Amino acid sequence: MAGIYIHIPFCKQRCTYCDFYKEIGSADNQVDTFTDTLIQEIQLRKSYLNGDNIGTVYFGGGTPSVLNFNQFRRIFDEIHHVFNVDNDAEVTMEANPDDLTDAYLETLSSLPFNRLSIGIQSFNNKHLKIINRRHDAQQAKNAVINARKHGFQNISIDLIYALPGQTIEDWKKQLEEAFNLNVEHISAYGLTYEEGTALWKQRNKGLVKVTEDEVTLQMFNYMRLKMIEKGFESYEISNYAKPGFRSRHNSAYWQFVPYLGLGPSAHSFDGKSRQWNIASVQKYIQSISILKPSFEKEVLSEQDFYNDFIMVSLRTSDGISLADLKNRFGEELFDYCLQNADNQIKYGNLILNNNRLFLSDTGVHIANQVIIELMKTD
Ligand code: SF4
Repeated sequence: MAGIYIHIPFCKQRCTYCDFYKEIGSADNQVDTFTDTLIQEIQLRKSYLNGDNIGTVYFGGGTPSVLNFNQFRRIFDEIHHVFNVDNDAEVTMEANPDDLTDAYLETLSSLPFNRLSIGIQSFNNKHLKIINRRHDAQQAKNAVINARKHGFQNISIDLIYALPGQTIEDWKKQLEEAFNLNVEHISAYGLTYEEGTALWKQRNKGLVKVTEDEVTLQMFNYMRLKMIEKGFESYEISNYAKPGFRSRHNSAYWQFVPYLGLGPSAHSFDGKSRQWNIASVQKYIQSISILKPSFEKEVLSEQDFYNDFIMVSLRTSDGISLADLKNRFGEELFDYCLQNADNQIKYGNLILNNNRLFLSDTGVHIANQVIIELMKTD
């Protein structure tokens, strides 16, 4: 099984916290040219996945909801022409709430999408303004309600906590709003101030009130308890799903299943190496037009792979399978991991159970520290 990720690098405006590759504004003919290029890239890279069946397709961005029916139709036709896509493949589209009008949802429901990931981030209009989102709280709720009316039965929403000036009471309200919408999946991330973003500059000038670490931790703890109370599984540090609704695409990343990334800045993984396309629409289009895709590549050493394995596995509720660890990396790294895990088990940050290592409830709070303890750096 393998996955396909497609990066649509256009946004109508710039959210202040965002450091993903995107171009602001796009003329229709530019999106048409981009679509032509994407189709050409699918052809050029058809051997990347060695004929594996495609179990998941994910349109992310940027803003995939800038594409119209014909553009999506052409991309899907090419994918189905070139790859064997499983009949029950999970096909996700990220969408901004204000794009999910009745007419657009009607279009989407006639395409192969069976999962929507809606970038709500907050139901608080004041916070939405601070981070420069295009939608308001009512549009966010309408997007989910309308998506349901148009037959989408697998809906995920994104939320951000620790927004500037946010209180724990406000975060509780956000979660209540989310639960009231009865969605199947919630991704919730603590705000990070990524270097170079507008929000990072505002923070450096003292223009935004940064949430204290202690309050952020309270928000995280409250969220985990509430999610479980509401029937969600906490299957990854930032991801919560009703039973049967884990993101298959993201879960495949965390299990090191190969994937092909298409579009500017998209990452690919073939089991041994990672590569990432050039982060420029113009250079991307130019390089594909001369049949020479522009990308950088990193062949993973055993140590790189081990470190990725530790980091990704420990963030999931499945934890590290010790049998898998030994099988993939041999006795030496297996012993190294166990020796370093020993103290963390004693401190109560890790739990060893059923031949698996997990973060404990206290370990989750200091996940990065625990992960670093188990990683190999020399
Ligand atoms: S819509 Fe998404 S990709 Fe575009 S600027 Fe906002 S967060 Fe970034």
